[in-house]
Amino acid sequence: MLQKVPFVDLVAQHQPIQDEVNRAVMAVLTKANFILGSEVEQFEQEFAAYCGTPHAVGVDSGLSALKLALEAYGIGPGDEVIVPANTFIATAAAVTFTGAKVVLVDIRPNSYNLDPERVEAAITPRTKAIIPVHLYGTPAPMDEIMDIARRHNLIVIEDACQAHGAYYQDKRAGSLGHAAAFSFYPAKNLGAAGDGGILVTNDEQVAEKVRAMRNCGQKEKYHHITTPYNHRLDTLHAAVLSVKLRRLDGWNEARGERARLYNRLLVGSGVVTPEVPANTVPVWHLYVIRAANRDGLKDYLAERGISTALHYPIPIHTQPFYQNLGYREGDFPITEQYAKQILSLPMYAELPLEAVEYVADAIQHYVSERQVALPV
Ligand SMILES: *Cc1c(COP(=O)(O)O)cnc(C)c1O
Repeated sequence: MLQKVPFVDLVAQHQPIQDEVNRAVMAVLTKANFILGSEVEQFEQEFAAYCGTPHAVGVDSGLSALKLALEAYGIGPGDEVIVPANTFIATAAAVTFTGAKVVLVDIRPNSYNLDPERVEAAITPRTKAIIPVHLYGTPAPMDEIMDIARRHNLIVIEDACQAHGAYYQDKRAGSLGHAAAFSFYPAKNLGAAGDGGILVTNDEQVAEKVRAMRNCGQKEKYHHITTPYNHRLDTLHAAVLSVKLRRLDGWNEARGERARLYNRLLVGSGVVTPEVPANTVPVWHLYVIRAANRDGLKDYLAERGISTALHYPIPIHTQPFYQNLGYREGDFPITEQYAKQILSLPMYAELPLEAVEYVADAIQHYVSERQVALPV
């Protein structure tokens, strides 16, 4: 029987918290404190405490948080910043917007995150920073990356836009580098009612600089001490985020339960399930498998009402916008190979466990019907 399995379901997330969200939104509307109201500072403190960092500065997107972090560390024209070849465009775009050069590095085989050995090989006298991405919610190998950064005197800015609440050893994603960026795009593990983001850091000076930059470069009204951007987090979003932050650990736990069920039910199916590095607790923003016959499998699942997605189908260096970086196809073989094999399965906290079984069954059937359990 055909069942509809959406890729994500934000309505299912909203329903149980509707009354609380309504009250939080109404309070802001009633006070009309739309710009940098007290809810923004309150949420910043809650999120900083959640991550285990002393400072958090709310901004209007994850991309802005990355860009402002780079700029606050003085990164700009003439500098190079190392970014994984396998990531969402925003990681690279943040570097481009500062005027610095994007230097791409391939991922570690059997993972989707930066390969520290290749990072080391990509460092030049112009390298100023590394942006490890905790892609799909799985922390990057931060001990190795921080060790390289210390030896070469580099800044490390975590792209934690998919990793709200993930643990690396006993520390949260966002507390591992010099600074970190989170996105509150609605479909992220913690999402606003529109666009939003936050920068977290241990560095008070950087926090102060970003606080000024996001708000017209001012510390006091009409006294503009730094780049006068407008990248503020709206009060309405902060109010909604405070309500949702209280649920985040529970939602992440529910995602973990679904990921473990997928893992178990996909044994012997001929697809590659995600590896969890030792001493990490991923938050399963996405559940990504690899299949040799990916496009056929995707179509087969779609015929059975199952929505899947690709993260990401076209690597950064083969994007039309980034042709000027001078890379060619073949430069990042792991990223390129995986881009042809990856498939993101439905994943969200409210996803019924029966739906996970239905998806896993369909994958098992596809492989046995066609006898195409090709090695990946
Ligand atoms: C979502 C995301 C971003 C950017 O977030 P926005 O809030 O959409 O600007 C950056 N990096 C990664 C890896 C993301 O998934």
